[in-house]
Amino acid sequence: MEFKTLAIVGLGTMGAGIAQTAVPLGFDVVGIERDEQAVGAGRARVAAGLAKFVEKGKFTEEQAAQALARLRTSTDRAAIAGADIVIDAAFEDVDLKRELFRDFERHASPTAVLASNTSTIPLVIMAAETSAPERVVGLHFFNPVPLMDLVEVIRTPATSEETIRAAVDLSKALGKSPVIIKDGPGFIGNLLVVPFLLDAIRAFERGVASMEDIDSVLRLGFNHPMGPFGLSDLIGLDIVHDMAARMYEEYHDPKYWPPPLLMQYVRMGWLGRKTKRGFYTYD
Ligand code: NAD
Repeated sequence: MEFKTLAIVGLGTMGAGIAQTAVPLGFDVVGIERDEQAVGAGRARVAAGLAKFVEKGKFTEEQAAQALARLRTSTDRAAIAGADIVIDAAFEDVDLKRELFRDFERHASPTAVLASNTSTIPLVIMAAETSAPERVVGLHFFNPVPLMDLVEVIRTPATSEETIRAAVDLSKALGKSPVIIKDGPGFIGNLLVVPFLLDAIRAFERGVASMEDIDSVLRLGFNHPMGPFGLSDLIGLDIVHDMAARMYEEYHDPKYWPPPLLMQYVRMGWLGRKTKRGFYTYD
């Protein structure tokens, strides 16, 4: 399948990252946001990302401007009509995703691949909303998209081979390394990383060591680029909490239950780097 035009629904952290990766490679991108203000913010996010690459000398200003010209934006979902693939990168909310996939089917071309960048919501939930579950696939990019190589391609029991092939080919065309994984909460990355982060928090709660020392053990002893507390702050404590809660809901295994300290920080609004305070404090 030839991909020329990508529709991305939600130009937040991930959607803007996917758009920023795609437009310099010659893809046309239609970005859909919920209102005009969000459209402006999304476009600004993509422009800022491209500008950073200009600063780093990866593109010239002219190339960045040409790339940005390939991004069209709209608040009207009907604008996905001409896209070869629709990628949901909207909020991680089950009801919203359900509603989006019903609408995708209504507006998208009858051959378009319908993808979601969800981190933890089972793809089958979205596939079940459509009469074409064979075209539904997970495309789980990692943050920050322009820098991270991995894409988890998620197959449900209904996803067709053609759709998987298309998702793999698109990931490669975007310069990524895809791995194919069966649908299930957390896929592989979060299935392994979330309990690891929660275990670190529990170890701290039990007084095993300070956060700094736990992070040092992982950085210095295992060559992790950052320890679990630094990584949780980077991901966002609300996101870690919500991923854990969703995995608990699915598996009913206590290892996914968010520890009290994590819940307290989230309730305090100490969400990590984005609020300048999480497990650590940021300037
Ligand atoms: P975000 O909050 O930064 O962005 C979400 C965007 O969706 C916002 O700009 C919002 O305005 C938009 N949106 C909400 N409702 C919409 C609607 N009805 N129509 C159009 N746009 C709408 O979130 P994010 O971190 O970019 O996450 C997006 C998705 O990617 C989620 O499913 C999340 O689980 C997944 N994900 C996130 C990360 C991460 O590290 N942030 C990594 C992998 C996957």
